[in-house]
Parts: sequence; C-alpha cells; structure tokens
Amino acid sequence: MPVTNDNGSLPRLRLRATAAAETALRGGHPWLFADSVREQNREGKLGELAVIFDRNDRFLAVGLFDPESPIRVRILHAGKPCAIDDEWWRARLQAALGLRQRLFDQDTTGYRCINGESDGWPGLVMDKYDRTLVMKIYTAAWLPRLDAIVTLITSQLAAERLVLRLSRNIQKLAETAFSRRDGQALIGDAPAGPVIFQESGLRFEADVLRGQKTGFFLDQRENRRLVETLARGRTVLNAFSFTGGFSVYAARGGASSVTDVDISEHALAGGERNFQLNQAFAGVARCHHEAVQADAFEWLAKTTHKFDLVILDPPSLAKRENERAGAIRAYQRLAEMGLQRLNRNGILMAASCSAHVTADEYFDAVVRTTIRSGRKFNELRRTRQAVDHPALFAEMEYLKAIFLTLD
Ligand code: SAH
Repeated sequence: MPVTNDNGSLPRLRLRATAAAETALRGGHPWLFADSVREQNREGKLGELAVIFDRNDRFLAVGLFDPESPIRVRILHAGKPCAIDDEWWRARLQAALGLRQRLFDQDTTGYRCINGESDGWPGLVMDKYDRTLVMKIYTAAWLPRLDAIVTLITSQLAAERLVLRLSRNIQKLAETAFSRRDGQALIGDAPAGPVIFQESGLRFEADVLRGQKTGFFLDQRENRRLVETLARGRTVLNAFSFTGGFSVYAARGGASSVTDVDISEHALAGGERNFQLNQAFAGVARCHHEAVQADAFEWLAKTTHKFDLVILDPPSLAKRENERAGAIRAYQRLAEMGLQRLNRNGILMAASCSAHVTADEYFDAVVRTTIRSGRKFNELRRTRQAVDHPALFAEMEYLKAIFLTLD
C-alpha cells in the first residue's frame, strides 16, 4: 500500500476554508476545523489527503482528512504546492529522527522521536525505549495508513518491535474497522513485561503496553536532571511520583531519603523496581526510599512530616477549557500544602501538564501562593517540556515547571 494517496479513481478531495481559517493556515496553524470548511467537492474518506485552496483557487495546504472529527483536516504541508509521495514521507521521518540523533548520547536510549504536529506528524507521537518503538495515535486518520508507516519505519530504523497505542476515543473504530488493538505489536512481538531503557545513565522501566502516555514521562527528563543537582543531603517528597523518575535522580544526586506518594499501587511498584535497577549508583543504594499509596491531596493535608525538597507533578487537572479556573485553584491549594511541608531552606518544584492552563497563569498561581505564605523566596528556574518534545503551536505547549528556593 502506498503511503501516498489512495482514492483510486475518485477526483482529488478539494476544500475551501473561511477567511479566518485561511489566515490561520497561512500562519502555520496545523488544523482545519469542520466549522471552517466552506466548500468540499465530494464526501471525503477517513485518512485520505485533502487539498485546501484559497478563495483565488491557489493551493494553501494539504492534510489528512477525518469525516467524523471536529478537526476535519490535520495539515501535513502548507505553502507551495508539493506532492506528498513516498519520498516526502521519508524526508519527514528523517527530519524528526535527525534532530534527536543530535540530542542524545548512549546514556539516554529513551526519548521522543516524533512529537505530533510540531514534527509535522499531526496527532501521532512515537517514543523509543532502547530498541522498542511505541507509536501512539490520537486521530483515526492514521488508521488506514498504519501498514505504510510500518514499511517506512522499517526502512529507516532498526527496531526490535513497534507497539501501537491508541487514544481511548479511537479504540472502538480501530478494532471494528481496522482490526487494530491498543498494545498490539506492528513490528516484532509485544514485550512480555516492561521494557528497560536508559536515561542520563539511569535505568528505568517503561510499561509500553498499558502505561500512561507511551509508558514513561519522557517530557520531564530535564527537570529530573535539575532535581538531581539540587538533591544532595536533602529529604525529598515526590508527590504524584508515578514510577519514581524524579526520585531515582534525586537519590543519585545524594538525597538522604525519598518519599513517593501516588494513588496507583502499580506505579509505586514500578518505582520500587526502578530503585532496584539503579543500585550500582552509590547515592541510590544509600538513599532511604519509601512509598505511600494515597490521594496526594488528602495525604498532604494531614501529614505532619516536613521535607527539604518537595516535588509536585500532578496529572492534568484541566482536561477541558471549562475546568481551567478550578484547576488553577487546585494548583494553588497544592502549592500551599507543598510549602507547608517544606523545611527552612527548602526547595519547591511545582509542575503542571494542563494545556488549558497557560504557563503564565500557572507560574502566577504558584508565585502568588508563595507570596501569600509570607515566606521569603527566590525563583531558581522556570522550565518547559524536554527538548525532544518541541512545541511549535500553542496547543502543544503543555508542560511547565517552576523551581523556588525558600528561606
Ligand atoms: N512525576 C511523574 C509523572 C506523574 S504522572 C514522572 O516524572 O514520571 C501523574 C501521577 O499522578 C500518576 O502516576 C497517577 O497515578 C498519579 N495520581 C493521579 N491522581 C492522584 C492523586 N489524587 N493522588 C496521588 N496520585 C495521583
């Protein structure tokens, strides 16, 4: 099956968009919404190429069509007309892979190879965990193209396996119309258990079949490195710890103790194994590690323990725009409780992964809460997601973290 078009004898699918959408597309916006489509020459099929023309009949953009989604076309290319042929796809994959080859050495074998829209692969991410690739698709438009993508990937990358992950909203269609399941191996065999990879020389497990995202939070890598440099001699609380990524770095950095708090027993067990995997590091072997299964909001409200370094990295608290205000209040409450648990001369690291809360809103919420606490503080750093997660569009900027030192 060719990667390119697939509509047999049908005329090319042609669309016209509203003036506002034309401007957005010219500015590089990666989506054409259904309510911005003014004209369409025929019904379109899922995943076929749709060409968008401007009001003067000039080529504007080409993208993947989805007849059911409010995001009707996900743009592959805008600007000058160009053929989306096999060579085009190869070049696009190479561009994404080439960028990462320059970013990581052999100490980091887990990273994001393709970050959706920002790498020109709208609605698709691909992470690499050593020799296991995990591709997660967020739009059904890729489903008819999976065989072609596998052929392309096989020609460019030596992978032992490629695991397919599907966002929940497309799982049913994938199964009924394409016989594809979440967790299915598209290359090689599905792994028997978690896959082990390296990050900054540390070893971690990724549960690529069932874990959140593709099995690990690669986007926090640089924040974890910063935590490592700040941890020496400190007692650390890692709230919403997942599998202890921050904790293992803190331990290698010389933390005297680390307490993980997460609601998921499964995640905490993974954190325990990640500590075991890194016993060769003196800091990790020496560090006292504890895991507490609890709702972190409730636990923080009632514990009397204090720590020298508090990490707050909750799941997205605003899944929808109308949850934004509530999420900001929850972030403030968390920061307030985190500060109460912080010893003198402590460090607070507070992160948010809600795309609906902007970085400015979030930083403002944490800083204001800290001012209200009456404690003197300095801002150490404001950071974003790691470099292998480029965000070229506002919709893709989600992760932000702030590091504060307190008197
Ligand atoms: N900091 C982690 C990623 C955190 S993901 C890392 O760098 O790898 C968010 C985590 O919060 C998940 O592990 C999830 O199980 C946990 N979680 C969700 N709601 C929670 C709650 N109310 N209390 C504690 N943990 C919660």
